[in-house]
Amino acid sequence: MEEILNNTTETTYDVVVVGAGAAGLMAAGTAARNGAKVLLLEKMEKPARKVRITGKGRCNLTNARGEEEFAENIRTNIEFLKIAFAEFSNRATMRFFERMGVKLRTERGERVFPESGKAADVANALEFYCRDYDVEIQCNTRVSEVLTLGGKVYGVKYFNKRGYERKVEAPNVIIATGGVSYPRTGSTGDGYMFADAVGHTVEPLRPSLTPLVTSHPQAQYIRDVLLRNVNVKLCIDGEVVREEFGEISFSDRGIEGATTLRLSRDAVDALLEERSVKLVLDLKPALTEEILRERIKREVADMQPEELFAELVRRLVPKPLVVPLCKELDVHSRLYISKVTEAEFERLIKVLKGWSFPISDYASFDYAVVTAGGVNCAEVNEYTMESKLVKGLYFAGEVLDIDANTGGYNLQIAFSTGHLAGLLKK
Ligand SMILES: Cc1cc2nc3c(=O)[nH]c(=O)nc-3n(C[C@H](O)[C@H](O)[C@H](O)COP(=O)(O)OP(=O)(O)OC[C@H]3O[C@@H](n4cnc5c(N)ncnc54)[C@H](O)[C@@H]3O)c2cc1C
Repeated sequence: MEEILNNTTETTYDVVVVGAGAAGLMAAGTAARNGAKVLLLEKMEKPARKVRITGKGRCNLTNARGEEEFAENIRTNIEFLKIAFAEFSNRATMRFFERMGVKLRTERGERVFPESGKAADVANALEFYCRDYDVEIQCNTRVSEVLTLGGKVYGVKYFNKRGYERKVEAPNVIIATGGVSYPRTGSTGDGYMFADAVGHTVEPLRPSLTPLVTSHPQAQYIRDVLLRNVNVKLCIDGEVVREEFGEISFSDRGIEGATTLRLSRDAVDALLEERSVKLVLDLKPALTEEILRERIKREVADMQPEELFAELVRRLVPKPLVVPLCKELDVHSRLYISKVTEAEFERLIKVLKGWSFPISDYASFDYAVVTAGGVNCAEVNEYTMESKLVKGLYFAGEVLDIDANTGGYNLQIAFSTGHLAGLLKK
């Protein structure tokens, strides 16, 4: 075994980058562009598996909002991130990809996508950046240990594609192994293990931007429904703590859609503290209760007495919601409209303006877009991304305790921190 371990790769490298995701590719390419000899080790069969599925295959690669609004969407350690962002901002990301031949388009909410609508174009551009500057990329190679001696890093041990353990020496190692969400893309949390082994604190990991599971009895009947223009309030222990406007959807994983994902981070933390959590949906946010009451009166006046209550509800909400909504109101969907009481119309208004869904759980890391928690930022130099505990050891991307809302912010975190780590001194 010792013999196998001693079989150090002959080439000498200035930097070994662990993980060829968004952060690792950016770090490796940047280091190589600055003249470093770089080895990039990736455990999956090809680089950037996660980037290829981002933004539903379209990759929302950054967000074009101004600095202040951008910062408001970063949920942890914004002060730490600011230096990396100043060095490589959202504008720099856009320029970078345009220069790499990826034309971009900015959509609603200042979200930036490749014009082609193909996430693969972003992944390929990052890989090309590395290859262009002669980064040596080894896939099917899982790093198993970061080697340190006397407070300095000197290389890594890894399993090569044939399953043999090897080591490679280098004075710098960048850990860009991502989080633990969507583990099938390769991010299984190895970086936290490496960090912990050399004395770093890893802040508790929680799924973020993840579907929320409701215990509401009607939810089982609301499946594969996407609702637009909904106002969603997150209530914790009976108090509204956050509000989001936009899309919400119901699937077999739970309640999701951009609004819920954005609220999920606070919801998950509250559930972990065993507090009571609910989502309250306003399905008619553009109408006050008074205007909605008038609208319902007009609809009813327009109907024949023998028409059904369900037909009125159908005029107000999408079809898949009609039966669950009638059940929620405890009014039979086949009741003649002429038989519906004033109190029942009032209940309809109340539920349309505030349908409450108790939240009992959240979907696991398998479905979470990002991981909250990670390597404690206070132990990392924000000007370089170098560990304050181990010389020559750097961190970049989701492995750090930084996470953000949906909208392109998380990839920008990976690009900014990856770029800064790649500027290391050889
Ligand atoms: C479904 C989905 C959609 C998303 N959409 C968006 C979006 O549109 N916009 C946005 O901003 N963000 C989006 N995100 C979040 C974003 O993709 C991540 O925050 C970002 O990819 C993190 O980059 P990273 O390089 O830190 O980690 P990753 O991209 O996870 O890369 C880590 C890499 O390290 C490799 N690795 C791990 N351990 C080892 C090891 N021991 N040895 C060697 N290699 C290893 C992994 O295989 C992986 O390739 C999405 C996430 C998901 C899951």
